[in-house]
Amino acid sequence: MTSRRGYLIIICFIILLSFVVYITNHQNATKVVYDFPCGVPKTLVNPMSKDSTTSQFVIDRSKMWTQKKLEIYFMDDHITQETIDDVVEIANEWSEYSNIKFVSTEDIGKSDIRISFSSRKGYVSEIGNDAEKEMGKSTMSLGDLNNEKNNIKLKSIVLHEFGHALGLLHEMNNPNNPIVWKIPETYIYFKEEYGLESFEVDEQVINDIIDVKYSVFDSLSIMTYPIPAKLTHNNISIPMVSELSEKDKINIGINYN
Ligand SMILES: [Zn+2]
Repeated sequence: MTSRRGYLIIICFIILLSFVVYITNHQNATKVVYDFPCGVPKTLVNPMSKDSTTSQFVIDRSKMWTQKKLEIYFMDDHITQETIDDVVEIANEWSEYSNIKFVSTEDIGKSDIRISFSSRKGYVSEIGNDAEKEMGKSTMSLGDLNNEKNNIKLKSIVLHEFGHALGLLHEMNNPNNPIVWKIPETYIYFKEEYGLESFEVDEQVINDIIDVKYSVFDSLSIMTYPIPAKLTHNNISIPMVSELSEKDKINIGINYN
């Protein structure tokens, strides 16, 4: 998936099919179904030279934006103004805790982030300023979310994807992630639920980013994966997240100030 557009992409998954049931019941679902795999490409998981001294969560600081205003261009003609307004408003929740501001633009030439909606592509985003390498092309896909009526689902996905657009990686790759994986079960689970091969599970779920220091693992981060306890030896489960965690809010302010 990462190669077909020739740039570094994080392929994202968020609960879809069981999402409404999960939220409505506020209890553990016996089987959570995810529509899209979500992961960190191998090039990002393997050792990197990063300035992590002030980085509190998994962020590639080399991909952080230097400007404070990021202009978003919506590439599809059929997208409603309501959808545009909703996406920009949700994205700006990150702005409440940092010096970044997202605004929509009708000038693709001025845009920093270009959003398309394609269910075929799922939910994906460039990592931070990698978007600058794709001038005139889509840098984020929000899948089938045009006119999405489930505001919680929309919020969860948009916040997550814009986290990537700010340079954030998945919290799962935090070296302080305490999960002790049941490896065979994890491979099987992610194959069944996400269609991931074992090496992809290694890259996108199990492997840590190494040689860097990060804060305590934040299981409530918007950048986590939902994980059922049955995949872990130490009985850790991670719920689906649809809000910025308190650490997300603090940490985005540390990195963008
Ligand atoms: Zn993601």
